Amino acid sequence: MPNYSIPSEVFIRAAEQFPTPFHLYDEAGIRKTARAVRQAFSWCPDYMEYYAVKALPNPQILKILKEEGCGLDCSSETELLLAQRCGFSGEQIMFSANAMPPREFDLARSLGAYVNLDDVSDIDLLKEHGGIPETVCIRYNTGGSFSMHGNQIMGSPGDAKYGWTTDQLVPGLQKLKALGVRRFGIHAFLASNMTDPDYYPALSGILMSTAAELEKSAGLPCAFINLSGGIGIPYRPEVPPVDISYVGNGVRREYEKVFGAPQAGKPGIKTELGRYMTGPHGFVVTHAVHEKNTYKHYIGVDACAVQLIRPAMYGAYHEISVVGKENAPKTHLYDITGCLCENNDKFAIDRMLPEIHVGDLLVIHDAGAHAFAMGYQYNGRLRTAEVLRQEDGTFRLIRRAETPEDYFSTLIW
Ligand SMILES: *Cc1c(COP(=O)(O)O)cnc(C)c1O
Repeated sequence: MPNYSIPSEVFIRAAEQFPTPFHLYDEAGIRKTARAVRQAFSWCPDYMEYYAVKALPNPQILKILKEEGCGLDCSSETELLLAQRCGFSGEQIMFSANAMPPREFDLARSLGAYVNLDDVSDIDLLKEHGGIPETVCIRYNTGGSFSMHGNQIMGSPGDAKYGWTTDQLVPGLQKLKALGVRRFGIHAFLASNMTDPDYYPALSGILMSTAAELEKSAGLPCAFINLSGGIGIPYRPEVPPVDISYVGNGVRREYEKVFGAPQAGKPGIKTELGRYMTGPHGFVVTHAVHEKNTYKHYIGVDACAVQLIRPAMYGAYHEISVVGKENAPKTHLYDITGCLCENNDKFAIDRMLPEIHVGDLLVIHDAGAHAFAMGYQYNGRLRTAEVLRQEDGTFRLIRRAETPEDYFSTLIW
């Protein structure tokens, strides 16, 4: 059983109302997580979660998060426009640059967004595109590998394309200061999908001590520490979920070591969680449409990697349940496949599941982040609908399925 789910009759009712496959999101769950995150960092007077739009870029979801006090982390012109149309503005938007067309800075600046610079060369681009604001965030890459608890290697920031090196920080900040910057933010994303609750505290310790040194050596006050995304969710049932209040307390301890008691005017804390916020609250609902017994035992479903590419792309594990058979013994060894002409289009390989018959309803769990959003149209397989299970239990279509007309609409015949 997955760590987080909703009653299986909900999937049955949804599948009566909408043709499969579709993504189903649970509003109550998203709000609950957003509130828990906010609560965990409530000790910091200047805290804000900037939801990473790329994880689930649907306006209805973004509006729910806005109501819960979140801002948005955007990385492209389209994401900025989406944020604008959902009513986000000014310091509710974080714009994380990364080799994008420089004119996107113009839009970010015109919206009043915080700009997070990925490279020292972005300083000159920003000067030409929108101008240098009073507060600028810089993205730090610590280099090397990032380890916690002494021995275990958790990530290799040095191999990542993002951020400034340690040596670039002081001269870069001095240059920004000369151009009129009054305060800086500092950001780093050292590891992804971390279910170790000590990740954020460890990262915050690095960023806070670096910020305190930079305040002295560059002569600029720190406006905020941006811990980015990276808190993980337990895709596998045996992994315990992250205790976010433990994480918040851990970050607070690091804060107090460096900056003393939190109070207004001292550096704020920003987060840009994507996966943690919505990941467990989304599901791909799909029917078994085909069964095949050859060298292996295959169940073909009407969803494919277009709905959820993570298993095909990273070999990622997603829990799958068979509706109505949640408690049935797992007696059969299956590959659960989609219909693409790609052998990696499999949601599960060699997975023990209850016996599945054509017509059974299946749910692929933890598809509320980096799922629909990574969709594509290979093989002319179109993106399917997104449905919101509202707090009152009713369903609302929040994105219709694509039609062949949508696919053809950009073609030149
Ligand atoms: C992807 C991304 C995030 C969110 O990452 P999660 O793993 O979904 O938490 C946050 N910030 C930036 C800059 C990102 O690129």
